[in-house]
Amino acid sequence: MVETPATPAELSRRLVAWALDEGFDRAGVVRLEPSRQIDAFERWLERGDHAGMEWIARRTELRRDPRGLWPGLRSALCVALQYHPLVGEDEPAADDALWSRVARYARGRDYHEVMTKRLRRLEQRIVAAFPGAAARWYVDTGPILEREMAARAGLGVQAKNTHLLHRVHGSYFLLGELLLTLDAAPLRADEVEGAADPATDLCGRCTRCLDHCPTDALRAPYRLDANRCISYWTIEHRGDLPEAAREMVGEWVFGCDICQEVCPYNVKVPAADHPELRLPPERRALDLVGLLRLGRDEYVERFRKSPMKRAKLEGLRRNAAVALGHRGDTAAVGALAATLDDASAVVARHAAWALGEVGGAEARSALSARRADPMLEPSLGVEIDRALARIDAANWPAAY
Ligand code: SF4
Ligand code: SF4
Repeated sequence: MVETPATPAELSRRLVAWALDEGFDRAGVVRLEPSRQIDAFERWLERGDHAGMEWIARRTELRRDPRGLWPGLRSALCVALQYHPLVGEDEPAADDALWSRVARYARGRDYHEVMTKRLRRLEQRIVAAFPGAAARWYVDTGPILEREMAARAGLGVQAKNTHLLHRVHGSYFLLGELLLTLDAAPLRADEVEGAADPATDLCGRCTRCLDHCPTDALRAPYRLDANRCISYWTIEHRGDLPEAAREMVGEWVFGCDICQEVCPYNVKVPAADHPELRLPPERRALDLVGLLRLGRDEYVERFRKSPMKRAKLEGLRRNAAVALGHRGDTAAVGALAATLDDASAVVARHAAWALGEVGGAEARSALSARRADPMLEPSLGVEIDRALARIDAANWPAAY
């Protein structure tokens, strides 16, 4: 039905109501304007804090002013979707070596898909109601400084761990934007909820996230160095993990939630039920050794619609090998040893490294047997030699 709202303010109220109708948890509207944080963002790039994520450094002119993304863009409907699971229902056990070491947002269906589906419906509704209006949606994909925009829309404030933080809803939420040619007035999500929050800083003197980050990736409040961040290495980096990164990632398999888990605002977050974001049974049945052994067909089956596909099968198996090495569980030696002649040289090298970490006679024997192969690929030979040297160094006092 074609609509004719009386005022830009009335239009914004209608847009927010429709976003909530489509299943988003919170929504607000901003007028598009040049970014106020672009200089800080460019300094972040200049320092190389974006690590190997070169795509982030592209199209900065659009990040500077998002109105360049499409002719006539004037406003943005900013939306949030909570991904904190229902208490006790979806939480993997703390001793679940795989799923407790996968970032919460990544356990269910790909959030790009979940958010995009809702944004597309919203776009259709808006375009049908306001003929001539154009909309462009983004979910963590476009050249937009979305946290800045979302903060202006009242979805939260920027926190020292670099996430967007809300006084009631914590930081376990996803962001999306629908950029519009409509002349909508600014409308903050917190005003819509009748709880206007003038705070621009919720962290105060707290430094828990900086203190607990195991790799010191939060170099200073509000500054993340991706070169030291577990999320970067386990998700974005392809190929071999450098030695230092293998140490850093610990038992994390995909992403890392530590700097959110320790945040006091995330302790009592109201539950939000989005079944798509729950860990599905076909993946829950998989354990760390199963992930290490995962074949292509099973991967396609189990990880259909999973955001974990971002790391690719090879990356997930590489991460599983490293996690098993850190666990030091001798029960995994057989699986790691069987991976020493894997078709993926990356996975085989990380399995060798992991055997060196687990140590013991069985690991040593498996490494030595594989080393004896005259056709051994040289880089795997180097990795095995290093692993054997570590095992021998660990056994040195016993041997002499
Ligand atoms: Fe540190 Fe993990 Fe947070 Fe990265 S995601 S900053 S490694 S706590
Ligand atoms: Fe802010 Fe403390 Fe939460 Fe870090 S842990 S984001 S400093 S409130």
